[in-house]
Amino acid sequence: MKENRQLTIVGAGLAGALLATLLARRGWQIDVYERRSDPRVHGYAGGRSINLALAERGLHALRSAGAAEQVLRKAVMMRGRMVHFADGSQQLQRYGRNDSEVIWSVSRGELNLVLLQAAQAAGARLHFDRRLDTVDFGDRNARFVDDRNDSAHEHHFHALLGADGAGSALRSAIGLSTPLGERFEPLGHSYKELEIPPAANGDFRIESNALHIWPRGDYMCIALPNDERTFTVTLFLPNQGDPSFATVNSGNEARALFERDFADALPLIPELERDFEHNPTGMLGTLYLKRWHLDGRAVLLGDAAHAMVPFHGQGMNCAFEDCVSLASHLDTGDSLEAAFVAFEAERRPNALAIQAMALENYLEMRARVDDADYLLQRALERQLAERHPDRFVPRYAMVTFRRLPYVTAMDRGSVQRDLLVEATRGRESLDEIDWAWLDAEVARRLSPLPIET
Ligand SMILES: Cc1cc2nc3c(=O)[nH]c(=O)nc-3n(C[C@H](O)[C@H](O)[C@H](O)COP(=O)(O)OP(=O)(O)OC[C@H]3O[C@@H](n4cnc5c(N)ncnc54)[C@H](O)[C@@H]3O)c2cc1C
Repeated sequence: MKENRQLTIVGAGLAGALLATLLARRGWQIDVYERRSDPRVHGYAGGRSINLALAERGLHALRSAGAAEQVLRKAVMMRGRMVHFADGSQQLQRYGRNDSEVIWSVSRGELNLVLLQAAQAAGARLHFDRRLDTVDFGDRNARFVDDRNDSAHEHHFHALLGADGAGSALRSAIGLSTPLGERFEPLGHSYKELEIPPAANGDFRIESNALHIWPRGDYMCIALPNDERTFTVTLFLPNQGDPSFATVNSGNEARALFERDFADALPLIPELERDFEHNPTGMLGTLYLKRWHLDGRAVLLGDAAHAMVPFHGQGMNCAFEDCVSLASHLDTGDSLEAAFVAFEAERRPNALAIQAMALENYLEMRARVDDADYLLQRALERQLAERHPDRFVPRYAMVTFRRLPYVTAMDRGSVQRDLLVEATRGRESLDEIDWAWLDAEVARRLSPLPIET
């Protein structure tokens, strides 16, 4: 690209810090503006241990930035879902075929620190306490505010890359110049974070190498391990109805809910009342945009472009994939505008696909993982994956352990779901499956998947 190689990234969260690293390593001059203070000096804002599931797409992006090893050193492996049934029994449902197919629980704060260090080491200039306020796209001038003293800072930019999250100020600014077709669909459910501390002997209180789920139909709890031997528990509840965040308002009401529905989790969370009252209730929803860029002057990525519900554990993974894609289009595009157009054309359909799959997964996690026909279909899915490893890859595995486009995972997933439903209809065990018919149908309906390098 012959254009000036200066870019300004708004937001030094997960995507912003990774993108800064990737671009600075490719020789771009990068300035990053972040609303918060420098977490390397002041500690990560919020202070609580919040974790995320890192999967292959995210790991691949971290490898491209040379940061994967450092991140994995502090990550906790999760082999599968540990389902806690209402009667108190438990079952580990493996995610993949073996320990090469696992996901990793990582601390958001630690990950952000590693990426900020990487960005700085690669030569990006980081500016903290700078909240994007307004943008004059005519003069290519952005105004940032330091909220500690309300001082304003002007910055002349060549192009702005918006990694400023779901509430993106850059998105609002672009929207004043060109309609983005923005639509936010609230989920109608929210979440609250709670904590399981280490046991008295300093060890994990429950199985550490699993993502724990307490599915309860319309609502659920999950817990992810942290490397300091705690678990971050997230309670998901509807906003209305009973129980909901409208009826469970206080620490006492939360205790009553746990006594009734999450009895085996209750003794693990000694500060339940305090956590419930102290921690904010988080909102969930899906953000759809028809357009992600303003000619060659600005583009959005990550949550700023396509925030999603967290039930596939892919928001960050998808945002990281965006970073790799944008960096590569910037390398090969003839102009910034051409790169932004190509990036949006590649990523937007895939973002829509993972947004849809994340919504579907909520129903699966809270209502289906303990259901008999679901369990039979999962058992059959595992067998088919073994019989036809090049053709039948469970949708969860395509999303989580592979890097094929999300759209492909969704399309093949739907063909596979039809096969599973047809093959198990009216049947109670795998002994009753008509294998000759099913093997032939797999070969007929599913082409071999390309090998990923
Ligand atoms: C409960 C929950 C659980 C989740 N679990 C997972 C998971 O397991 N796996 C997964 O892959 N994803 C998960 N996600 C999604 C993931 O958190 C997001 O997709 C990811 O953080 C998006 O990264 P981002 O950099 O686009 O945005 P963010 O991480 O939100 O970063 C945005 C940055 O921009 C800064 N900023 C905001 N406004 C301005 C401004 N005006 N000026 C300058 N800077 C600004 C912010 O301070 C922040 O640093 C989860 C989300 C939730 C809510």
